[in-house]
Amino acid sequence: MMTSSSTAIVDLLSDTGSDSDVQIVAWDDIAKASTFFKVADALLTGRKHGSPALDDQRNLLASFLGHPGKDYFTGERVTQFDQVAAQLKATHSATTTTLKKNWNQTYAAEKLALVLCLVKKEDMEKKVPAAASMPKSTRSSSKKKSTKKSTTKKSTNLHRAIHNLKKVYNPVYTKYQEAKKAEANKKNRTPSLNHQKSGLRLQDSVQFRRSDACLSNCPVCNHGNTMALSKHSDTNAENERRRREAGNDSFEGVSMMVGCYCFQLQSGNEDDCPCQVVFEEKNRQVIALATAKNKARENGRQCKCVLSCIFICLSTIYCSYTL
Ligand SMILES: [Zn+2]
Ligand SMILES: [Zn+2]
Repeated sequence: MMTSSSTAIVDLLSDTGSDSDVQIVAWDDIAKASTFFKVADALLTGRKHGSPALDDQRNLLASFLGHPGKDYFTGERVTQFDQVAAQLKATHSATTTTLKKNWNQTYAAEKLALVLCLVKKEDMEKKVPAAASMPKSTRSSSKKKSTKKSTTKKSTNLHRAIHNLKKVYNPVYTKYQEAKKAEANKKNRTPSLNHQKSGLRLQDSVQFRRSDACLSNCPVCNHGNTMALSKHSDTNAENERRRREAGNDSFEGVSMMVGCYCFQLQSGNEDDCPCQVVFEEKNRQVIALATAKNKARENGRQCKCVLSCIFICLSTIYCSYTL
């Protein structure tokens, strides 16, 4: 679905002329207008969230030289990469001073961001699991290790160069996303929501039972895999104990903790949901509303979707149109 629709956008624009120049302008203009490009460009230019130093950025760029796009890319992206590589070759110089002048910060960040756009699209089509979108987990689940390597072609030099680029950029992007999420959560408070980024997950000690799953969907990922982590009777007993202790009137009650089990129910596909939040049941609606507001703010304005339909973007975790 994602692929055909995004191709449709390119087709619409490139159909305005059969001249190949038109298409060249179209693809990198579209890429540069994307949120993904703008974020990458800004992160690399501003060297935020641990972005590589300019010299390292130059080395990454240089590692793309001399490799045909077909070594990694497929379809239209082969020529698109070759065009970027040709531009790099034309501006490359063996003289350090000339190279530093040509490959300045603005130039290096822009070219790297363009390559990242191509890589992201390629990986989305090849269904390479996007490491950047997965939460950094210190806990290894046995199922996660079964990521299919069989579909990847044998490693080429360009593969290695792109692997290095991802290795450098993905953690930067993850840090940026986390900072953005924290910022958004400050605006729309999500009380009692815990992403459990480190330490033991509450879900790890309570086995998921499909028959006991909550009827409401997860307020964060919207999947129907949440379950109470404690028994109703335990919660009631605890509240009863608190009430007795406090002498009836002013006692602070506890409500049930609920956890999302998406992270445990992985099938090894790209669209596996990594959600592992825990929250208090009484806050489910408030969290759902805040999450929806955050997502609308994130996607709504930048939505490149044909329908500019906020609803579609809200219901899609990876909105391809914001790419
Ligand atoms: Zn989920
Ligand atoms: Zn969830």
